[in-house]
Amino acid sequence: MKRAKIVKHNEPFEFEELDIPVPPADGLVVKSAYSGMCHSDMNHWKDRIDLGGEIFRVSTNPNYKAVPGHEVAGHVYAMGENVAKEGVLKVGDRVVVYPWMGCKKCGYCLKGCPNMCDVRSNIGYDHYGGYSTFVLLPHSKYALKVSESVPMEIACLLACSGITAYNAMTAAKQEIESATEFEVTGNYLHGPPSQCIECNITMKHM
Ligand SMILES: [Zn+2]
Ligand SMILES: [Zn+2]
Repeated sequence: MKRAKIVKHNEPFEFEELDIPVPPADGLVVKSAYSGMCHSDMNHWKDRIDLGGEIFRVSTNPNYKAVPGHEVAGHVYAMGENVAKEGVLKVGDRVVVYPWMGCKKCGYCLKGCPNMCDVRSNIGYDHYGGYSTFVLLPHSKYALKVSESVPMEIACLLACSGITAYNAMTAAKQEIESATEFEVTGNYLHGPPSQCIECNITMKHM
């Protein structure tokens, strides 16, 4: 398989050829169909996150593995023996990779927020990401089945851009429902939510 690696920040990716990984008993190998390029991937490549006055480095971990790509959709290529026994997934299934794996021990992970893990254990940062023909997942729970009706190029965005927008809308839901006036991307929409087509569509998905 082929994968693209950051060997030096701000320099072109380096391509390398290696064997397809073998999944552990509880894990999976996903053949990547699409991998999004998130702004975080750009930060990763530049090794800097600008928070407006404060600059953070991304690669503070000396064991940093530099194959980015945390927005991955693809097909199940191989599975470990326990996953095969479970029978929930089969080879060829269309899946989205959930990249925020966390350490499973810190306060955030125990609260169900592995994306904010103190230690950080994410696909595309701390584990080889989707800029690769195949992606190894240590556990099958990080592969979520996706229906045929969702194109792969859209599906790959769901586990990062998708849930970011979903979270923002969920947090603002109460305010939206009680609001009487909306401003949506430059269009001014007046009236309660029931008169606002855009808002009704959003509500249905909540
Ligand atoms: Zn992202
Ligand atoms: Zn954690």
